[in-house]
Amino acid sequence: MPVPRTYRAEGLVLKHQPLGEADLLVTCYTREDGKVRAVARGARRPTSKLVGHLEPLTRVNLSLARGRSLDQVTQAQVVDSFAALKGNLSAVAKGIYVSELVDGFGVEASANPALYHLALETLACLLPSDGQPESELPLRYFELRLLEVSGLLPELYYCVECRQLITPGDHRFSPNAGGTVCTQCAPPDAHLRPLSVRALKVLRLLHRCPLAELPPLPMDAGLARELKGSLAATVEFWLDQRVKSSAFLEHLRRAAETDTTLTPAANARAE
Ligand SMILES: [Zn+2]
Repeated sequence: MPVPRTYRAEGLVLKHQPLGEADLLVTCYTREDGKVRAVARGARRPTSKLVGHLEPLTRVNLSLARGRSLDQVTQAQVVDSFAALKGNLSAVAKGIYVSELVDGFGVEASANPALYHLALETLACLLPSDGQPESELPLRYFELRLLEVSGLLPELYYCVECRQLITPGDHRFSPNAGGTVCTQCAPPDAHLRPLSVRALKVLRLLHRCPLAELPPLPMDAGLARELKGSLAATVEFWLDQRVKSSAFLEHLRRAAETDTTLTPAANARAE
């Protein structure tokens, strides 16, 4: 069956950049098609009906037309502009971090609805509740669940090397080897780091409990730093692996489509 020339998708705008005289190159993460990079023709003209609909951190309904290398946004309707979030600088910074990781882990033309819903779930919880202190816990939740929905969840109960059940106090953490490691094992190139009992407990809780239902967790600076270090190192490790492989796959895909290597701008002009 031929692929339809036009399609609709619901997505989160991750970023955009100017293209040509008045166009925008928009990167969205969609529920139906995974990551989509598309041209919005004339979207930088003040009179364009797309103005204001394709800002980063906006949930939109899109109509798109397939192009040879880049699709084209023909219509966009805002579902949620996250206006309250955008009024808080710290929440915006966290939202941009979420967007960057969705961009890094999301794959073009490969739907992962769990990743889409995780991004929306996290954005909805980035503003601190009334009376609650500022916390990066939603980001730690996002990092752990991002790894999970990408099939890369770190082990939190067994030693990744000897498969023995981890006992309290007898554990370390390896971003590279896939999670908890007992103190008897030392997998090669594991970049082992200490993992306290309380940090392990928080990681297990983040894995078990939806973000909106997390109880208030007393977090001192040391615990916050430990959680951030372990999760960020794991995300960065996999992102690096993924970026290398996805960049190579993208190169192959483009090479198969065209005999010459075109930049995105040249691709857009070629359509
Ligand atoms: Zn072990």
